[in-house]
Amino acid sequence: MARYALALFAVILAGISFAQAGPAAQKHMIVTAHPLASKAGYTVLKRGGSAVDATIAAQMVLTLVEPQSSGIGGGAFLVHYNATKAETLAYDGRETAPADVTPELFIDSDGKKMKWSTARIGGRAVGVPGTVRMLALAHAQQGKLRWAELLQPAIDLARNGFAVTPRLHESIDGMKGWQKSPSSAAYFRDPDGKPWPVGHLLKNPALAETLEAIAADPNAVNTGAIAAQIVLAVQAYSDNPGKMTVFDLAAYEPRVRPPVCGRYLSYKLCGMPPPSSGPATALMMLGMAERLGLQNLEHSSAEWAHTFAEVGRVAFADRDQYMADPDFVHQPTAGLLDAEYLDRRAALINQTQALDKVEPGTPPEKQGLLLAPHQGLLEQGTSHLSVVDSDGNIVSMTTTIESGFGSRIMVAGFLLNNELTDFSFEPEIDGKPVANRVGPGKRPRSSMAPMIAFDAAGKPVLVAGSPGGSRIIAYVAGAIARVLGNGIEPQVAVEAGHVINRNGKTTEVEENRVAETLPEALNALGHKVKVRDLTSGLHLIQITPTGLIPGVDPRREGLALGD
Ligand code: GLU
Repeated sequence: MARYALALFAVILAGISFAQAGPAAQKHMIVTAHPLASKAGYTVLKRGGSAVDATIAAQMVLTLVEPQSSGIGGGAFLVHYNATKAETLAYDGRETAPADVTPELFIDSDGKKMKWSTARIGGRAVGVPGTVRMLALAHAQQGKLRWAELLQPAIDLARNGFAVTPRLHESIDGMKGWQKSPSSAAYFRDPDGKPWPVGHLLKNPALAETLEAIAADPNAVNTGAIAAQIVLAVQAYSDNPGKMTVFDLAAYEPRVRPPVCGRYLSYKLCGMPPPSSGPATALMMLGMAERLGLQNLEHSSAEWAHTFAEVGRVAFADRDQYMADPDFVHQPTAGLLDAEYLDRRAALINQTQALDKVEPGTPPEKQGLLLAPHQGLLEQGTSHLSVVDSDGNIVSMTTTIESGFGSRIMVAGFLLNNELTDFSFEPEIDGKPVANRVGPGKRPRSSMAPMIAFDAAGKPVLVAGSPGGSRIIAYVAGAIARVLGNGIEPQVAVEAGHVINRNGKTTEVEENRVAETLPEALNALGHKVKVRDLTSGLHLIQITPTGLIPGVDPRREGLALGD
């Protein structure tokens, strides 16, 4: 497979945009959103590195080559399966709010909530980055090769340059108001302000230096000269400054959490627990879907689409109400996944008529919370990578700087996130505090859903995740339902058209990827269908007795490599 995939890689570098899965590998495999990141991780796997080692090499390269989506200025969730111990752990590298913020961070001087488009650009929404410290912790516990050598591919590429891909070019071109962000505009555009063309060799010597500093000391982003530069850029941002200090950066701590697990058919599925709402909501959807027989329906039929949209509607009602940072707000996660509760919630769904807006339920563990719901805004950006190493260890990692190009502030060669916009802009609604309100040191609720599925004997069978804001939940649940429930191959599952309802007025159906008759059939069942682009970035690895089978999202530029 390696040679075949590398030929594709050369074609991609020549400027042709496509994604292609290869045939199954036997030993190890990595799937990321960019061929150069996949290659960096693959080289590590070939040298005997662990899944975490390959992830670190790939993430550092992604910071350079897919800067609009993730990087060392952001946060990430890494779900790890250790094959020797048969143990799954969730590494939480989510950004935190600085100590000086108040719940009114996004309320303007007129007492109104700020516009998302205004809030996101500048220092205000920058959370304390967690990716590097989280990866360093995962490396200390699960790494095999030396930390510094894992950064070398990214250092070399940053210094020697990489070819701008069609997707990066389009992302730069689509950036509105770029003139307001001189630090990033100077890097992504030519001296006349035009986006660098596809194939342009883009060099980032500032990032090469930063990565060298991180190679020598994994704390280099959170302390010392780079931390000082971050704080200056955040606090001095002209019309939208933030409150981050060097103390916030120095104090950042990644967390290791037990995963959230649930069932779908005979499978056990585990993923990142809160502060991500992703896996818990996906597990609610799958739990209800099983009760409604989704696994027995043809996966491109209107019945499948209706059932899947409706379980999304019901699950999102609870997600919006209850999920937030568990270090600040009690989470009724076990209650939401309780079998009897899922029976009750699934019973709301009518197979022949779409529901209206669903109210949150009362799960067993609710503990009389008086919280108001927060639906969350449209999000863009983010990247998912999946890795299996030759010892059977697994990484499923979703990594983000929140929206495309994050806060747009570029410091020391990398972009700072705008993750704090994942908090509720309103601290309270109708006098009730919102679970996901801003708070000092708090982590904003996420939708990222890195997951691993196990069979009845406890053997891992599927690694899955995607970017896509709160639509991630349906992208990932849909892919898992198709592969494990409907027996569809990963690549076909990834290419299948998305159907999503997030308890809003419309049911979204993906343009050009579903049967022409599907929108009409759903409308006839009472949905208000909106046909649109739904740009997932699903990267799957199915682990079968005969080998590893990738699913690479054709909507992005990813690549699977393995042996
Ligand atoms: N910031 C989002 C989250 O953590 C992800 C954004 C995206 O996928 O584009 O849920």
